[in-house]
Amino acid sequence: MSQRFEVIVVGLGAMGSSALRHLSRRGIAALGLDRFTPPHDRGSSHGQSRIIRRAYFETPGVYVPLVDRSLQLWSEIAEESGRELFRQTGVLLVGDAYSQMVSKASETVHTHQIPHEHLSGEEVNQRFPAFDVPGRSKSILEPQAGILFPETSIETQIQLAVNRGATVRFKEPVQSWEAMPGGVRVRTSEATYEAGSLILSCGAWISQMVPQTPLPLSVERQLLFWFEPKSHPEFFKPGRMPTFILEPSAGRFCYGMPDLGEGVKVAIHHEGDVIDPDSDGQPITPAEVGAMRDLLSQYLPEANGLLRKSEVCRYTNSPDEHFIVDRHPQHPNIVLLSACSGHGFKFSPVMGEIAADLVEGVTSPLHSGFFSLSRFLQGSQ
Ligand SMILES: Cc1cc2nc3c(=O)[nH]c(=O)nc-3n(C[C@H](O)[C@H](O)[C@H](O)COP(=O)(O)OP(=O)(O)OC[C@H]3O[C@@H](n4cnc5c(N)ncnc54)[C@H](O)[C@@H]3O)c2cc1C
Repeated sequence: MSQRFEVIVVGLGAMGSSALRHLSRRGIAALGLDRFTPPHDRGSSHGQSRIIRRAYFETPGVYVPLVDRSLQLWSEIAEESGRELFRQTGVLLVGDAYSQMVSKASETVHTHQIPHEHLSGEEVNQRFPAFDVPGRSKSILEPQAGILFPETSIETQIQLAVNRGATVRFKEPVQSWEAMPGGVRVRTSEATYEAGSLILSCGAWISQMVPQTPLPLSVERQLLFWFEPKSHPEFFKPGRMPTFILEPSAGRFCYGMPDLGEGVKVAIHHEGDVIDPDSDGQPITPAEVGAMRDLLSQYLPEANGLLRKSEVCRYTNSPDEHFIVDRHPQHPNIVLLSACSGHGFKFSPVMGEIAADLVEGVTSPLHSGFFSLSRFLQGSQ
């Protein structure tokens, strides 16, 4: 006989671990399933750090209230677990004189009264000697922003959910689900389970879970690098170097974090190949390392030392880079929670909360129409 739960969560990465924690806090009998053992390095949530900032330049009216709620929830999770999930490093946005990123973030910090400083290129280089940005560039520093620790965050939220009674099964891929009277039946490699509702938070694999619903998503290979500074390692430590996002030319972004012990972490946002989520990803090529070194040599020249390590990660992109957090079009007891398009981690506590609300039949005031599934399905049903 199948085991029965109130809710099943498929995928316990950033989004699913959060949803499971919210459900268990509400006393809902929940089962969380994952094909691997989270936290792991096969999805979208590994690599030591994720940026969290309020100075959103991308649709701030939607995302600033969400990040504000997430910050409350991140503090709550840290307090409940006693673990460090967030470190305030400051986040510096650097662009040329015409940078849309910096001008839009300037509007956001004024509209939402976010503590900030405007810095010229010279001021950045003087204050943070890790950088050598052009004197004509312009920057905004958000001193209270920083980084989250993704692996610890996922592990902690799963543990807190289990402490409150959630059941979890790892290394148990979901093979299929079917709607049935009163709920849903889920088949894994090991067993069959039943539940009233289902949350599909499978990251890069979400399209495989809803084969009848065409989702215009693409999975993009992303590379992460950790470099050892050539000199003055103290310039690259938290406190001396903020986390940064740099716009070297219009619409092109690279970002990085100070050295937390394994080197200065840097990456290029997007510009990766589209991949199959089941592929292990091609090895990183010397040309890809070279492209990263070119940017370092221009903007953080002393960071361009020994390559200590590199990793491949994945973005699951929607065409408009907004998420999908919505009920299934035919089965309102099934919630899709995905497509975090390379900027979802910071929001995962509130996204899990919104998904838990949806399965309870409640629509959170923070649930934006920007996350609706219908925006992609018009004409296809
Ligand atoms: C390189 C990189 C840098 C990023 N930087 C930032 C940043 O600075 N700030 C920020 O806010 N966001 C950032 N992001 C985005 C953020 O990390 C992602 O949006 C977020 O981690 C996605 O979480 P997820 O839960 O959707 O996916 P995942 O964490 O990958 O979780 C999906 C889970 O589903 C499981 N699963 C899949 N299929 C099945 C199945 N059939 N059965 C059972 N389990 C299944 C997988 O094993 C996995 O554990 C970055 C992403 C990358 C890749």
